[in-house]
Amino acid sequence: MSSSANRPLVYIISAPSGSGKSTLVNELLKSVRDLDFSISYTTRAPRGSEINGSQYYFVSRSEFEKMIRDDEFLEHAEVFGKDLYGTARRFLREAEQKGHDLLLDIDVQGAAQIQKKLPDATSIFILPPDRKTLEKRLRKRGEDRGEVIDRRLIAASREIQNYDRYNYILVNDLLEESSKNLQAIVQSERLRRSGKPLSEEESKTVALADRCRLANVRDRLKRILDSFKPPEGSGGGNPP
Ligand code: 5GP
Repeated sequence: MSSSANRPLVYIISAPSGSGKSTLVNELLKSVRDLDFSISYTTRAPRGSEINGSQYYFVSRSEFEKMIRDDEFLEHAEVFGKDLYGTARRFLREAEQKGHDLLLDIDVQGAAQIQKKLPDATSIFILPPDRKTLEKRLRKRGEDRGEVIDRRLIAASREIQNYDRYNYILVNDLLEESSKNLQAIVQSERLRRSGKPLSEEESKTVALADRCRLANVRDRLKRILDSFKPPEGSGGGNPP
C-alpha cells in the first residue's frame, strides 16, 4: 500500500547534469517501495545503452507534437533549446490506480508547470558541492566533448539560480549520505501525509529530511552559488 490514501504523492527531482541525479534516483527506486518512476517522452536520440521504454520513450518530433495536441502531457518543455521532453498524464493515472507514489525527473521549466498544476508536489533540487567538482565529474564521465562540457557548465550556472523554487535541497557531496537524505525526504513526506503519531525511528527520519529543507541549507548554499559566479572582470556570466 502506498502512503497516499487516494491521490499519489508526487516527487519532482531536478538537477544540473553531472550532479549525480541518475544514480541517486536509481538508488531511491531500489530502496523505497511503491514509488513509480515516470518515464518521460523525448525527441532526443538514445545515448549509449539507453533502451526505449526504460529511461525514456524516444519519439519523433511529429509524434511528440501530436501528443501535445491530444493533451497527453502533464507538462512538457524544450530543454537546452533543442529537444522536447514531456511527462505523460497516464503515469499519474496509473500510479493512482496502483496506490503508488510518482517520481518525476524533470528540468526546472517542467517543475514550474507541475508546481502550478499540483501545488502539493514535493520538489527536490540536487546540487553539486561546487563548480569545480561538477566540472571534474562531467570530464570524468567522458560522454561529452570539451565544448559540450563548457555549455553544460553554463547551463548549470543558470539552472541553479532556480534552487529557491524547491522544497528541499540536496547537496550531493558524498553519495551514500545524499542517498540516505533523499530516502528520508520521501519517507518523511509519506509520514506527514499519514498523519499518524511518529515512532522514535520515524522522528529521526523526519529530522534528517528537515535538515535538507531550503530554509535550513541557506548558509551552505551561498558558498555553492558563489563558486558558480564568474570571476570579477571576466565579463562572463548568465545571459539576462
Ligand atoms: P537528458 O537528455 O540528459 O537525459 O536530460 C536532460 C534534461 O531533461 C534533464 O534535466 C532532465 O531532468 C530533463 N527531463 C527529462 N525528462 C523530462 C520531462 O519529461 N520534462 C521536462 N520538462 N524535463 C525533462
